[in-house]
Amino acid sequence: MKEIVKSVYHIGDSGCSVYIVNTNSKEGLVLIDCGMSLEMLNKISKVGLNPKNINHCILTHFHIDHTAACSDLRKMNKQVRFYAHDLDADAIEESGHDSKTAASWYGVEYKPVKLEKRLEGDLEKIQLGQYEFQCIHTPGHTPGSISVLIEVDNIKILFGQDIHGPFYKSFGSNLDDYQKSMQKLLNLNADILCEGHYGVIKPASEVSRFIRGHMDSNRP
Ligand SMILES: [Zn+2]
Ligand SMILES: [Zn+2]
Repeated sequence: MKEIVKSVYHIGDSGCSVYIVNTNSKEGLVLIDCGMSLEMLNKISKVGLNPKNINHCILTHFHIDHTAACSDLRKMNKQVRFYAHDLDADAIEESGHDSKTAASWYGVEYKPVKLEKRLEGDLEKIQLGQYEFQCIHTPGHTPGSISVLIEVDNIKILFGQDIHGPFYKSFGSNLDDYQKSMQKLLNLNADILCEGHYGVIKPASEVSRFIRGHMDSNRP
């Protein structure tokens, strides 16, 4: 459990890196991806946060290492609202997409959850308390991959979960889309990148180096 900037934390890794934002409002806590097990969420009590106050969970894409714990989270917190892009939504709301979601690789049975909202188009903004969560469509790794940008005290924090890939037909990966998406992210000039499997990357120069490096090794 590590504070990245005020009210934004890297909780730890459970399949993927899981991040949480405290909106300091009635909207409570916002999770960026859910990971594979809820157990890890107990860590947030160390900084005085209560897992029961997780009211929102933004899913960056449909992969099992980011979504497996969703149904348990809903069991614990009936009020929790999930968000994902429309193009990845079916595999989150239905069972039977095990090669897409990589559930079959992990040997995990995915339990579907209903979304509060299917995000559409290039950009949707979700206002929660004082924070605006910009959900940017960044297809490539999967068709409905999103990256989430928030600004805290003029610091731009980008949750770009699987920027590094990998890219497979079974995921619906597309390297042309990926190149365009990564260019979109470079143009944001984020100060901090919270990645799905590489943890927290900063400052801005390292963020662009990381993104460019992966663009170079994944040309169509
Ligand atoms: Zn993934
Ligand atoms: Zn991942």
